[in-house]
Amino acid sequence: MRSVEEHRAAVAAVLGRPRTVDLPPEDAVGLRLAGDVVAPLSLPPFTNSAMDGYAVRASEAVAGAVLPVAFDVPAGRTDVPALAPGTACRIMTGAPLPDGADAIVPVERTDGGVERVRIDEAPEPGRFFRAAGSDIAAGEVALRGGERVSPATVGLLAALGHPTVRVSAPLHVAVLSTGSELVEPGTPLRPGQIYESNAPMLASAIRAAGGTAEVVRFVADDADAFLARLAERVAAGGIDLVVTSGGVSAGAYEVVKDALFGRGVEFVKVAMQPGMPQGCGTVGFDDGARVPFVTFPGNPVSALVSFEVFLRPALRAAMGLPGGPRRTARLAEPVDSIPGKRQYLRGLLTTDGDGTDSVSVVGGPGSHYLRWLSQANCLLDVPAEVEHLAAGDPVDVLALNGTD
Ligand code: AMP
Ligand code: MG
Repeated sequence: MRSVEEHRAAVAAVLGRPRTVDLPPEDAVGLRLAGDVVAPLSLPPFTNSAMDGYAVRASEAVAGAVLPVAFDVPAGRTDVPALAPGTACRIMTGAPLPDGADAIVPVERTDGGVERVRIDEAPEPGRFFRAAGSDIAAGEVALRGGERVSPATVGLLAALGHPTVRVSAPLHVAVLSTGSELVEPGTPLRPGQIYESNAPMLASAIRAAGGTAEVVRFVADDADAFLARLAERVAAGGIDLVVTSGGVSAGAYEVVKDALFGRGVEFVKVAMQPGMPQGCGTVGFDDGARVPFVTFPGNPVSALVSFEVFLRPALRAAMGLPGGPRRTARLAEPVDSIPGKRQYLRGLLTTDGDGTDSVSVVGGPGSHYLRWLSQANCLLDVPAEVEHLAAGDPVDVLALNGTD
């Protein structure tokens, strides 16, 4: 049997290293910068006024002085003349400061004159200036590689004149569930049928981890139909990874195993509970496409635990995103675990008033208990060799649902 670490490494190897894409900044929100962004220009690019008012020479603009208004500088004026001695000019917020001026008098401290202006309060030199480069100087590192693009980042990139930004590419995952018993919600169930729940659950988990996902309509337990559906979708393009659920255990009608065995996917048993039957590899298609595959068992709890343990870290790394921090919590109650298997129990993590994390087990170990899964906010990670933990013992926990 493979250890969890060994299979985690195998899944990471199948996904590979991050790719980069150039996107308009507003399309990159939430993604990580692929490298440092150096400012190609200073911000502000030119010294401008922070107020609507008059640009003057401070030595001339004493209280009570009346100065002729030589010209106006609205924001956006590109041909600003120099300010002649003994004159003022009207200047608006964001407008470039004329040569010769060394002070701004806000309009509220004047009579607001158009032809000539009376100064009521003498200005301080340099006051109400927005100096060129006072926000950022050309050549400075504006943003660090690895930073997440936020709306404010988009503003900065646009202000620096970047039409696009290079970010680590989000991966697009096709999620495909198998099982002849599965029916789409909205259709009445016949005896022996259940509603399909893994594909929308895994697609949501992938999106919460920063990827994009689509649900490929699930297929019956028929290897040919499964392969045909896959080939059709892969040929349409845009798929970075296929995730399947179901059809990989030891029974008959194991469609994923039957279809992908010998085609580049390795099916293994991982010493864990739930989630023992796992698979990953790269599948070649007739049209030459080579697509990474990760196969999960079909039980809903096993499928989501498999995602959290194997795919979430690999997916994040392949998108240049950090993994969730590992946390340790105190057990609120004693726990028994299966010897020889690393066990992932559903847990409820709470932070006490004094800041210590404590965790209790939610529900039983059965891999079909979706309600308990939905009530949990973490997984307890109980090492393979551990058979019993006492109340108060430390245990590793993994946040569920992207709550890290
Ligand atoms: P399998 O791994 O295909 O043997 O399925 C194991 C169990 O999980 C069976 O009880 C299936 O009915 C159930 N199951 C498999 N796939 C899904 C799915 N997509 N949604 C809900 N239940 C599923
Ligand atoms: Mg099945």
